Amino acid sequence: MTKLVTSILASSPSAAATVARDVQARGGRWIEIRLDGWSATDDDFDALAAALPPGSWIATCRSVDEGGHAEADTMTRVSRLIAAGLAGAGFVDFEFADWQRSANIRQKIQLAVTRNRTPGTPPAGLILSAHDFSDRPDNPAALPAEIARQESAACVKLAWRARDITDNLLALDLLRASPVPAIVLCMGPAGLLSRVLAGKFSAFATYCAPQADAATAPGQPELDAMLRHYRFDKIGGDTKLFGVIGDPVAHSMSPVLFNACFDAHDQDAVYLPLLVAGDADTFNRFMAGLAERPWLDAAGFSVTVPHKQHAAAFLGDHVDPLAAQIGAVNTLVRRADGYFGHNTDHAGALDAITDALGCDRSDLADLPVEVLGAGGAARAIVAGLRHCGAHVTLFNRNATRARELAQAFSCRSKPWEDRGGDHDVRLVINCTPLGMWPNVDETPLPAERLEGQPVVFDTVYNPMETRLLREARLAGCVTVDGVSMFIHQAAAQYRLWFDEGLDKAFLRSVLTRQLSRQDRA
Ligand code: NAP
Repeated sequence: MTKLVTSILASSPSAAATVARDVQARGGRWIEIRLDGWSATDDDFDALAAALPPGSWIATCRSVDEGGHAEADTMTRVSRLIAAGLAGAGFVDFEFADWQRSANIRQKIQLAVTRNRTPGTPPAGLILSAHDFSDRPDNPAALPAEIARQESAACVKLAWRARDITDNLLALDLLRASPVPAIVLCMGPAGLLSRVLAGKFSAFATYCAPQADAATAPGQPELDAMLRHYRFDKIGGDTKLFGVIGDPVAHSMSPVLFNACFDAHDQDAVYLPLLVAGDADTFNRFMAGLAERPWLDAAGFSVTVPHKQHAAAFLGDHVDPLAAQIGAVNTLVRRADGYFGHNTDHAGALDAITDALGCDRSDLADLPVEVLGAGGAARAIVAGLRHCGAHVTLFNRNATRARELAQAFSCRSKPWEDRGGDHDVRLVINCTPLGMWPNVDETPLPAERLEGQPVVFDTVYNPMETRLLREARLAGCVTVDGVSMFIHQAAAQYRLWFDEGLDKAFLRSVLTRQLSRQDRA
């Protein structure tokens, strides 16, 4: 089973021991001690030996050349690794570039793994590693093969900064092809896929950080996220991959929501935020890369800004009719003939509205609705409303965009300045980001224009009660929040992937908890 290793870079052995105890208490079984965090005079390994069971940790003294902090010369680093071996390290991680430098260094490193171990402790294993914190190596496939030829190596490790998400696919190719136990990881914000799926492809290890602000390499997820969100201990060869494709995605609520659902429904699946850089080219290359690798078991994706239109274009006629009419896909489902695209935003919005009004979709026929905004969300919602026969008037800052959307769905558009205040309107929907965290004091409609409006729906879901909704509530309107739309569209995605429904109250409780956590952070 792949070792989930929490990497600890502390300023002294005793500080490292304190963090290690905390990590163990939180369920971290394997620990990497980065000896390069210590000052040259601070080599008290007893504190570590007391905190860490023999064999349960990896000793590393990373050189500055490979992203570490050890200014010391190679021999001083080697001496520290020898001391760590004596103190019970289970593995010693040494840079392959230095290993190649001389027979003397190789001999000394052999000592680090074999010399005077505590009785009953087997020799430490040697991890020979190569890191590039700035870019992908020129020929990434050559390096693991070369390292694997070293007889002394128990494990090959290669890590580089992903140029984009597609580097993860290459990393997983190398991991699968390795003739010896291997660690192949991508660093940086686009590298999460290789770090989590290491478990699916029986990597020797993958790394995480004790806390978000204590990562020893860019892109390292937190221990708690690995154990509790991604359920790393449950990831295995049959685990299906799901995720949200977007840019940015780091603050998406979907991973927390869907992983909680997978856990509750005992699905052998993991859902990841997948940073796919903003252009159509990266999106298309990623999709093509997935298609070439059926062994990834990439079963479904949510798609968010800016890729909803890219997804629709990529899939061609593999898109359901309403998503094709909207021109945007927010859900991908893997079928035998490739991915198929849907749009669950419109259904999510319609369900949120009908839930709040206690009616069904047919009751929306002839309803006068005012929609603020003409972007992707507005487009999906207008399509859904028009499908039900509602009368929609559009208001958008950019009037041309409003006119174009109005034309596409046979409705009206009016100047942005005229929004609100029409007492014939039965429902006002905000589809702009105005009021979204952190700009929580903004609102798309002044409070005085809310008087007399029966129902106000804000698609923004962070915060749950936006300024618009607060003022609408105080003005006596029925309010519909963005969380409700988010939950309904997520439930629709889950149904497409698993043909199963989800408990909405459960979804709301997961989202509420996560949003209030973010508020506190
Ligand atoms: P988008 O495609 O970028 O469109 C943004 C729209 O907001 C455009 O019409 C834009 O007008 C308008 N806008 C932006 N800043 C504005 C400002 N300062 N003043 C006036 N208008 C402004 O984004 P989107 O995908 O439609 O998403 C819009 C919002 O919907 C997001 O903030 C998100 O919170 C929400 N949403 C919620 C859900 C959910 O499940 N609850 C799902 C999807 C989206 P211009 O055309 O003039 O630029």
